[in-house]
Amino acid sequence: MATIIDGKAIAADVAAKVRAETAQLVASTGVTPGLAVVIVGEDPASQVYVASKSKRARECGFHSVQHDLPESTSQDDLLALIADLNADPLIHGILVQLPLPGHIDSGKVIQAIDPDKDVDGFHFINVGRLATGELDQAFVPCTPAGSMILIERALGTDLSGLNAVVVGRSNIVGKPMAHLLLAANCTVTVAHSRTRDLPALARTADILVAAVGRPEMVRGDWVKPGATVIDVGINRVPAPEKGEGKTRLVGDVAYEEASAVAGAITPVPGGVGPMTISMLMANTLVSACRGAGVEPPRF
Ligand code: NAP
Repeated sequence: MATIIDGKAIAADVAAKVRAETAQLVASTGVTPGLAVVIVGEDPASQVYVASKSKRARECGFHSVQHDLPESTSQDDLLALIADLNADPLIHGILVQLPLPGHIDSGKVIQAIDPDKDVDGFHFINVGRLATGELDQAFVPCTPAGSMILIERALGTDLSGLNAVVVGRSNIVGKPMAHLLLAANCTVTVAHSRTRDLPALARTADILVAAVGRPEMVRGDWVKPGATVIDVGINRVPAPEKGEGKTRLVGDVAYEEASAVAGAITPVPGGVGPMTISMLMANTLVSACRGAGVEPPRF
């Protein structure tokens, strides 16, 4: 049976390190990391995400600011708020919760964020820094950054020469994940919906990352014996065994089957999910350190 990679515990370690390093930064420079979270509209899921990000920021000892804007907010007003936050010396990280209402061009809003405060890592400048291997200057999107830490906890920091297959090529997960693995000297293949014979390709992977959004698509016989399997997927499926109308979360990997073959595997929930918010805090602390001219901690 595979070793279970405990994302909840590792995310708690990262958060504890952020708290400790924040206290040290405040003591040595007087700079308190500041995170501004912006939400437009009343989408209940987004409200929950945003509230938990703001709460976690406070727990880390950050200056935490939340801007709740009505659904009717114009793009110009949102851009004006971003400009204010860009200019605010107390703010080191800006996060605009997606999706935005249809009348607002998300791309334009993301690109308006100062790249040096873009703790989500979605700005073209940060995408370019990551793609060119300038990791010391980049902000890396939180989910792949967190997945990379889980891989390193399972395999150590020397991933040189390992075959990595990333299933999924989104800008938020698949592509940045592939760049991180490449920067770590893996031989990386990115698969997607047009990939031929995905099961055979997946079986070549020493590190298999699934970021697809299809419940339990990756079967046990897609996994190379001993491989490290990172399941980014979060899918809600019906769970009639829990009662009528009940649901449960599953990943993109058929966990029971895969864990009988893999060397190490992330569960869903409790794997990649908890890492994302901890990496947002880590990125904000790193931003504050860079702003203060202090060497940022490594996570
Ligand atoms: P996305 O933007 O929908 O991208 C999905 C990718 O999967 C696309 O590249 C798509 O290929 C590929 N794909 C779809 N069907 C496929 C198939 N049958 N075979 C091979 N590839 C296939 O999704 P995402 O934003 O990357 O998210 C992926 C999953 O991760 C979702 O379950 C999401 O909920 C989860 N997620 C979790 C976290 C977290 O915090 N843990 C964060 C973000 C996302 P094409 O490009 O060819 O269409």
